[in-house]
Amino acid sequence: MGKVMNQELRELYQEVIIDHGRHPRNFKKLEDHSHSQEGYNPLCGDRLMLYLKVENDRVIDAAFEGVGCAISMASASLMTTQIKGKTLEEIQQLFQAFHCLVTTPEPPSSVQNCLGKLTVLGGVRDFPTRIKCATLAWHTMKVGLDRNTHEQAVSTES
Ligand code: ZN
Repeated sequence: MGKVMNQELRELYQEVIIDHGRHPRNFKKLEDHSHSQEGYNPLCGDRLMLYLKVENDRVIDAAFEGVGCAISMASASLMTTQIKGKTLEEIQQLFQAFHCLVTTPEPPSSVQNCLGKLTVLGGVRDFPTRIKCATLAWHTMKVGLDRNTHEQAVSTES
């Protein structure tokens, strides 16, 4: 049992994940953000605060702070790196591709092409309790973007 577990973990914790987990990119508070959202995964205890700067329907900067396991930190690190410079529509496609990657046994190659480096996180699909670690940053981003759009609509009405 122990030996099998070690093998599985080795497959899961590929080099990119270890690297990004130990040295997360974009790990800072973004002072002039337009969006911020807290995310929490009670299953593992991962907690993060995501900052986005959105202008003209494009994410021009992204950063995060937080504490959590290597998977959650690596996912947030890779995600913030990949969404920078992308339009909200492109990010929506990325979100769907990532969701497909971590939940589908054999995701189509179009999904893998779309995700690039993020593909390394696909290994979590074999570890159901780890899927939430990998998707935390993504759901946090989606909630943050949706909520802010809603708030803008409300403030326009008042
Ligand atoms: Zn975790």
